[in-house]
Amino acid sequence: MNTRIIPKEYNYTAPQTLAEALDILKQKNVRVLAGGTDLIVRLKMGSEEAMETMLDIKRIPELKGIAYCEKGAHIGATTALADIEENAEIIKNYPALRDALVAMAAIAVRHMGTIGGNFVNASPVADTAGPVMVYGGQVHLKGPEGERVIPADEFFVGPGKSQLKEGELLTAITLPVQPADSGAAFFKKTRVKPDISKISTTVYVERDGETITNCRIAMGAVAAKPITLPEIAKEAIGKKASKALFAEMAAKVADTIKPIDDIRSTAEYRKAVANVMVAEAFEVAWKRAGGAL
Ligand SMILES: Cc1cc2nc3c(=O)[nH]c(=O)nc-3n(C[C@H](O)[C@H](O)[C@H](O)COP(=O)(O)OP(=O)(O)OC[C@H]3O[C@@H](n4cnc5c(N)ncnc54)[C@H](O)[C@@H]3O)c2cc1C
Repeated sequence: MNTRIIPKEYNYTAPQTLAEALDILKQKNVRVLAGGTDLIVRLKMGSEEAMETMLDIKRIPELKGIAYCEKGAHIGATTALADIEENAEIIKNYPALRDALVAMAAIAVRHMGTIGGNFVNASPVADTAGPVMVYGGQVHLKGPEGERVIPADEFFVGPGKSQLKEGELLTAITLPVQPADSGAAFFKKTRVKPDISKISTTVYVERDGETITNCRIAMGAVAAKPITLPEIAKEAIGKKASKALFAEMAAKVADTIKPIDDIRSTAEYRKAVANVMVAEAFEVAWKRAGGAL
């Protein structure tokens, strides 16, 4: 891939304000560049033939950086994945997001790639999706008709497709403050360490003593988009936590998901791994919630 050249000429522009960027987006055949770790690959493969203008949004200060306040975390769209994984508030308050970030790609890619790019690229394997969805995160969009805020678990539509409309930019991802006695964990299985997931899972639990009082489960690489499984998660609520319960939940997930065979894995393997990995994620999430087993 790195030996390929980009087989076309295009205009390049790098505005310094959001207003300017949104204005440029009104033109025909503009493609947004953040870190470029997905877009440049597509350009090199010749699959962005229509692009006339590349709009680099990385110089817009209001799209970058992490702020933490009494409402939770605000992560600007162009914040590099590596900056998020090193942020003390993220490490402390959203460890499942950090699990996902450190498991993504190689560090060089994480210094270029952004969280906004991971969301808008809308791959079924997008690793930041699961943690953001189970933490109750929201996606902030801005376009010609103003601002929209969409729950992260409603953002993805299908491979490469999201709720983002033409002319809009993803401006930020926000995560609410997490309740006391809650915890979450992300696990993924890859061919080699810095690789795209064959399958991933994120589990979130809240507890009151030994009882699970809330639960969310997200899965990656098992459907046409990153998904949550609210019906299965509901079955854990009100039950006493135990390794047996976590194994039962994992078996239900494995039975329910409908993965496909592709270049990274088979449907059969993905189901078999889910049967183990979801139970492990429950255990770590439960321990992070302060629970004992
Ligand atoms: C070697 C390698 C390994 C990788 N490993 C992983 C992995 O393990 N897990 C994983 O999930 N991904 C992985 N990726 C994919 C990629 O690195 C991530 O999806 C990354 O987060 C993309 O961010 P970016 O800023 O580089 O996006 P870009 O390539 O800049 O953009 C991606 C898409 O989103 C659009 N876009 C970007 N930002 C915005 C915005 N704010 N508003 C509107 N549109 C926008 C672009 O137009 C483009 O269509 C890997 C990529 C490579 C090259």
